[in-house]
Amino acid sequence: MDFIFINQNVLNDLFYILVSIFVYYFLIDHVSLFQKYRHYRQLLMVVCLSVPLILCMRFPIYIAPNCVHDLRQLPFIIGTLYGGWTVGLPLLMILLIVRFVFYGYNYITVVIYITMLIVCAIYSRTFNQFNRSQKLVMAPMITFFLAILSTIIAVVISDFQVTDTYIIDFIIVPTIAILFLIYIIELLSEAMMMRTKLIKVEKMEIVSQLAASISHEVRNPLTVVQGFMQLLKSPNLSKEIKDQYIHIALEELNRAKLIIDDYLTFAKPAPEKVETIDVDRELKKVVDIVRPLANMNSITISPDVHSGCTIGSIQYFQQCFLNLVKNAVEAMPNGGELTILSYLIDDHIVIKIKDTGIGMTPEQISRYGEPYFSTKEKGTGLGTMVALKIIQTMNGTLEIDSAVNKGTTLTITLPLKEE
Ligand code: ADP
Ligand code: MG
Repeated sequence: MDFIFINQNVLNDLFYILVSIFVYYFLIDHVSLFQKYRHYRQLLMVVCLSVPLILCMRFPIYIAPNCVHDLRQLPFIIGTLYGGWTVGLPLLMILLIVRFVFYGYNYITVVIYITMLIVCAIYSRTFNQFNRSQKLVMAPMITFFLAILSTIIAVVISDFQVTDTYIIDFIIVPTIAILFLIYIIELLSEAMMMRTKLIKVEKMEIVSQLAASISHEVRNPLTVVQGFMQLLKSPNLSKEIKDQYIHIALEELNRAKLIIDDYLTFAKPAPEKVETIDVDRELKKVVDIVRPLANMNSITISPDVHSGCTIGSIQYFQQCFLNLVKNAVEAMPNGGELTILSYLIDDHIVIKIKDTGIGMTPEQISRYGEPYFSTKEKGTGLGTMVALKIIQTMNGTLEIDSAVNKGTTLTITLPLKEE
């Protein structure tokens, strides 16, 4: 038993802890349940840390009379520092039960780990407010402090022998190891946070790009109108020329109106809000808006929508579906049938917009959503682009199924809001 400073089990113990940290972050990253609910995250932390806790005790560095040496305090301290009482207390229970099952009851263990729990849990709130470098300094310090405190407690309440191996394996190795572990934990959580931020920034970008391009588009016709109005001011214009100028100006104004219709019908000055969207209700509103237009073209609309909620801006949602439904109506100049369905599949809402209109060629399908692509005489080619961008910001997808002279079916899938 003499001098086993560092043996294979030290490395094994570190390995167990590292792997469980990776597993924890992997699951947080890939399972949305853990991203949304704090309680599940805490539960996951308890599970992920109790595995190395148990494995450390199962494969200790060495066993001396009265004490078993391993790195179990590392997962325990990490869990309690990051998770507070909620994580620390279950970990303590698991630690004590497993210790006694493996090696029998020992009251020094109970006293030492309860002390550790109290110190770390009280300190947890302050610790979580620290930045990375402060955590990197404080975690080893607290581990060192706890190791010294435990040693003093052990020496005072029993005739505990402090040996060289004890100093190395219980005081020095954990203090250094926790530095690396905290570093890795902070690195992983920072990388994950950065990515979420980046996605948000990207979404904002889409919206502001859209606004910029549309205002640019509206400005062009307005400039033309301005020019012709100025020309109209000049004296000695024949009535014919005047009429021509007015006609052009009106045409351009109409174009500006169409562009605004495709983007800003519902826009209010209020900033974009994230709210709960009642899909069935909003779809019915859109249907009501296009119904007069449909009636004019003898199109029958049959909505069959099921209730379900998603998240986003109601304004944008209405704009998006108005653009899509309007296209469907415009695709049936000689009448037809427009079907609007919505139903739930797993955690998604599927919305189908089906028309029996002119349909699209494969080339048109591939250009769908491209800005300024339009086959209509007075088309803007902005409606589908706006709709697609809105679906994108809502984390949804759009699928097109179309055949010339048969009709088009659009399938939009949006994430369902969990109650
Ligand atoms: P616009 O309606 O002003 O032409 P959009 O961006 O709304 O611009 O639509 C772009 C093009 O996509 C349309 O000109 C049309 O060719 C095609 N398209 C969109 N929806 C349909 C549909 N339901 N059926 C047939 N073609 C469609
Ligand atoms: Mg359109």
